[in-house]
Amino acid sequence: MKGVIKKALPGGARTMLRQFQWRAGRFGLKHRCLMCGAWLKDFEPRGATAAVLADLQITPGGYRRVTCPHCHSYDRERLLYLFLRDRTDIFTKRQKVLHFSPELCIAERLAELGHQVYATVDLFPMPGVAVLSDICRLSFRTDAFDCLICCHVLEHIIEDRAAMTELLRVVKPGGWAVLQVPVSLKLDATFEDPAVTTDEDRMRVFGQGDHVRIYAMDYIDRLRESGWQVEIVDLIAEMGHAKARKLGLFIGERIFLGRKPA
Ligand SMILES: [Zn+2]
Repeated sequence: MKGVIKKALPGGARTMLRQFQWRAGRFGLKHRCLMCGAWLKDFEPRGATAAVLADLQITPGGYRRVTCPHCHSYDRERLLYLFLRDRTDIFTKRQKVLHFSPELCIAERLAELGHQVYATVDLFPMPGVAVLSDICRLSFRTDAFDCLICCHVLEHIIEDRAAMTELLRVVKPGGWAVLQVPVSLKLDATFEDPAVTTDEDRMRVFGQGDHVRIYAMDYIDRLRESGWQVEIVDLIAEMGHAKARKLGLFIGERIFLGRKPA
């Protein structure tokens, strides 16, 4: 009977019916995506499966149910968006913004705002990237930006201290940066091994084929040694774990907020 009704509908109506069925199948009151506002039965799974990610409590990391089926945002992007929206003036004040390796769901919103400068940068051509530049030798003048976003980049960079110093250089005194990396909540100190060079070995040892280390919380010491003032903002602790789970955030993830001394 259902098939008969479907066949009787014109093509456009059949597409609408399919979209309605798709949305209805995912609708629920247990979760809500704070990027697109969708109410959801559940988020969808994503993430790497390397054992080291769970063994060392890499935060955020590992295979988990986090992707919004509607807007495809995932946990760390939503936490970043929440922080930028509620704790900074990036959505309310025109300014000069550097966004390294941009999260597309956030970049689309920032690009619409008519910032004085909105520079999207990566070493390689990627969707949403306008400028190709090496994070250790950026092609921008000193003090060029009011703020920058550089998330989940430094764990890929062998000379991460050089990158931290270079990011500091291009932000104006008093400017701020969100500098997210995955961190192990189990390790006492950041783990690196220059002898681990193949994708396969890096996957096994660091949890991802293009990661070159696993940071521990001494990550913030490296930022400070590079000249950043660092504040840890724990939005998830502030809202409580029940709400964080409802919003599909990664329990334990915190915001690493850097500031260039004025
Ligand atoms: Zn969404």
